[in-house]
Amino acid sequence: MKIFTTKKDLKDCLSVLKLKKETIGFVPTMGALHEGHLSLIKKAKQKTTVVVVSIFVNPTQFDKKEDLLKYPKTFDNDTKLLESVGCDVLFFPSVDEIYSGNVVSEKFNFDGLEHQMEGKFRAGHFDGVGTVVKALFNIVAPDKAFFGQKDFQQLQIIKKLVKKQRLNVKIKGCAIYRDQDGLAMSSRNTRLNDTQRIAAPFIYKTLKKVRKKFGTESAVKITAWVENQFKNHPSLKLEYFTIADEKSLKTIETKESDKKYRAFIAVFAGDIRLIDNIRLKHN
Ligand code: AMP
Repeated sequence: MKIFTTKKDLKDCLSVLKLKKETIGFVPTMGALHEGHLSLIKKAKQKTTVVVVSIFVNPTQFDKKEDLLKYPKTFDNDTKLLESVGCDVLFFPSVDEIYSGNVVSEKFNFDGLEHQMEGKFRAGHFDGVGTVVKALFNIVAPDKAFFGQKDFQQLQIIKKLVKKQRLNVKIKGCAIYRDQDGLAMSSRNTRLNDTQRIAAPFIYKTLKKVRKKFGTESAVKITAWVENQFKNHPSLKLEYFTIADEKSLKTIETKESDKKYRAFIAVFAGDIRLIDNIRLKHN
């Protein structure tokens, strides 16, 4: 695996590969890699001939400074994992390399997607995501880029970014990868203490019950039920739960037969914020 820290060296390498008609698959990450990230890289290996992964903890997408400072960094382990799945190129730039001394976000209009869910609770988050992904796409110029449905709102926003800015890249959404007990894999999971880790699968258990209830109960009723489940939980605090239309990401009140829906949840275990979501079926 080749490792580059500067845009110039990466671009020089990729331009040679592009001349050889290789297709470039790109998986942007913030490092602290786990099986969830690796599942995206494996997908990219199937669909393209050269896989580029970036590791960049993007400061502008963090609304809380402590969260940025506490973000896990495991570079040596990351490179081992990347080698193990056959990653071809790793891009590991500094903040200065990406932002050239001006660490601010561009302001985006994602047609309202940015105001739902995460957008309500993490001010400026999606402007930060849009800024870094656009910058990385400009540098890497991939044919295909792979994003996890774990961050479903982010995935929809990236699709919108590509459409609105007419970027020449195909966006592929990949399934959520879970631990055996159902907890969605996340770099933040390593920060959970034993009690929190034991409690955390309750999030997905609740989502699975939501999926069952969705056939017969209203979204309003289900939402109240979920809020109640978390009311007196000793280690998990619900930030939001909502059932939303997959396209607009707007909370729904009534179901329409031609629409696709998902349930979305954000929960705190101490100061560690966990998110998850599940596809719902009409029945
Ligand atoms: P992150 O490093 O958290 O920014 O994530 C990098 C990419 O990996 C994003 O597209 C995430 O949606 C994706 N990802 C993170 N965790 C998972 C998971 N458990 N399953 C699938 N994709 C994931």
